[in-house]
Amino acid sequence: MRLKTLDFAGMLAAEAAFSVLSEGSSMEVYWDFLRKSWIWKELKKSRNYRPAFDYGLLPGLAISGLEHYLFKGRLPFTLKHGKPDHEATNVAKLHTPIEYPRADGILSFDVPTSLHRSNTNHEHDQPAHLRLRDPTIPESVNLPEYAGPESRYCPARVYEYVPDEKGELKLQINAQNCLHCKACDIKDPKQNIEWTVPEGGGGPGYTVM
Ligand code: SF4
Repeated sequence: MRLKTLDFAGMLAAEAAFSVLSEGSSMEVYWDFLRKSWIWKELKKSRNYRPAFDYGLLPGLAISGLEHYLFKGRLPFTLKHGKPDHEATNVAKLHTPIEYPRADGILSFDVPTSLHRSNTNHEHDQPAHLRLRDPTIPESVNLPEYAGPESRYCPARVYEYVPDEKGELKLQINAQNCLHCKACDIKDPKQNIEWTVPEGGGGPGYTVM
């Protein structure tokens, strides 16, 4: 069975790191490994699928269909998204909250259960790997204007708005639960969250040696 893309990319990164340590090469070898792998071919073939839909449903279907069935990644251009993800988040007043069905415990599971199964952990005394560039932005901008998006898109409930002693909501960061998806690094409307690599082998699938 073919490994998942991220797992395989992680293996290539580990091989590159081993080559750096044992042969003194540079981490540029990672890009060489990646370019020669099946991941590169698959990602190149599908690079235009999503941005094609920025032009509308029908043009998106047409371009994606041509790319998939005819050109198979050989289109001589790469479509771009018009703006970065963090600029694509609208203010909350333009939208109606979505009521999602509750997890049924069969096909869908609540966050604590999923988190437990991911075996995520970090050493308790390591430096914080999630930092706020400006600690006032969550309460002054993200919560009033965007309804606290970090408490919604984070799959591990790392970001929670909890009331302080005066009853005012303050952002609490439970970095221990982080799954390293990097959504917060990409999606925060003001790019205020700085994601840094955690210490050691902490994260999902963490094992104590
Ligand atoms: S990287 Fe992902 S899991 Fe970790 S805090 Fe950010 S959004 Fe949450």
